[in-house]
Amino acid sequence: MAHTHDSSNKADIVVVGGGIIGSAIALRLARSGARVTVIDRGQPCSGASGAAAGMIAPQGEVIEPETFSKFCTASRDLYPELVAEVEELSQENVSYRRDGTLLVAIEEHECEELEHIYRTQTALGLSLERILNDKVLKLYSGLSPHIKLSLFVTGDHWVDNERLTRGLIKAGERSGVTFHWNSAVTGFNLKGDQIESVRALPQGATAEKAFSAKQVILAAGCWSGQLAETLGISLPIVPCHGEIIEFETHGDLPHVIRAGINYVVPRSPGITIAGTTAKWGSFEKAVTGGGLHSIIQGITRILPVAKDFKFRRAWAGLRPDTKDHLPILGLGALRNLIFATGHFRNGILLAPITAKVIAELALSCKPSHSLDLYSPARFATAE
Ligand SMILES: Cc1cc2nc3c(=O)[nH]c(=O)nc-3n(C[C@H](O)[C@H](O)[C@H](O)COP(=O)(O)OP(=O)(O)OC[C@H]3O[C@@H](n4cnc5c(N)ncnc54)[C@H](O)[C@@H]3O)c2cc1C
Repeated sequence: MAHTHDSSNKADIVVVGGGIIGSAIALRLARSGARVTVIDRGQPCSGASGAAAGMIAPQGEVIEPETFSKFCTASRDLYPELVAEVEELSQENVSYRRDGTLLVAIEEHECEELEHIYRTQTALGLSLERILNDKVLKLYSGLSPHIKLSLFVTGDHWVDNERLTRGLIKAGERSGVTFHWNSAVTGFNLKGDQIESVRALPQGATAEKAFSAKQVILAAGCWSGQLAETLGISLPIVPCHGEIIEFETHGDLPHVIRAGINYVVPRSPGITIAGTTAKWGSFEKAVTGGGLHSIIQGITRILPVAKDFKFRRAWAGLRPDTKDHLPILGLGALRNLIFATGHFRNGILLAPITAKVIAELALSCKPSHSLDLYSPARFATAE
């Protein structure tokens, strides 16, 4: 295929993928003075970042190993600053809320799981409140009277991930980032052990465009593996399909309410979203009868009042999962290709810290957190 190369396609850094991860990195880099271009084959929020539930929840489950748990809480702690920056630059409200999460348990095994979370997190110095039996109904009367144990987690927050991603894009544009939407990256031109340029095919065009850059950041979510493959790099990323239902409610829930994989998240006045499901392997984003059934069954068990919620719409998205469920961050075999992908169920939570460490790596080679645990090289020996 023919390809064109013009001087306007030269950036210091090209970011492949404009989801929450790529957009947050682009903003950080542009704010540090870099010339940044983001290339995305879809429209804003067409990937997992538009489909998520928006929980910023490092304490809602036991996150292992401890280094990763600390990485997650550090990212949660960066949220207020990021939100203030995005809201100021974009002039958009991203609905960031810090009203806490309620973890609830009815069955014996669920109570054991919550006790485990309680012990592990208090040992780490994190704060949680134990609430026994139906005392939880004082927090929200719509809950099941069969709840035996609850943990109130003040440190787990949430955000409207779609608004935040759009806000990051707008903030990026206002800071000088150039976004190319509907342009699929098709491959890379190499010179020795470096990428010289990124090839992309804009929708409807017959010729590819080449974008040259000093650094390239791969942030293409669950599609990152396919792009790495074009460079002969094996990146074991698989899509994990998850579904969400949006409801209209009378009045609003005061907190996020969770029991394992089932949760309800107050999104905006009169709107609540509920999730979720997890199915690995396919890149298809269909909403299924089985998925809707299991979400409704799961949430009405802990929140019987949900039977009166009015259905508005449902959607599905693909979480980028890895073999060890940890993200892939840092440099690999090529000198100027940085990976920022594989965030699985935690990409919204981890966006601020990913942006910080990847920008530090790209600009000064010295990230403020060790990235050893997330190195792309770990899979070379794990095969
Ligand atoms: C149902 C569900 C609920 C979730 N809930 C939460 C939650 O509560 N909290 C949390 O922290 N996380 C949650 N997640 C996970 C979170 O959504 C992801 O980890 C995060 O969005 C990943 O962001 P990303 O930018 O890496 O990927 P994406 O948002 O998928 O972005 C990748 C981008 O790359 C682009 N792309 C792909 N291929 C190419 C190509 N060839 N050329 C150019 N561009 C390309 C895509 O178009 C896309 O825009 C949830 C996910 C799902 C599905």
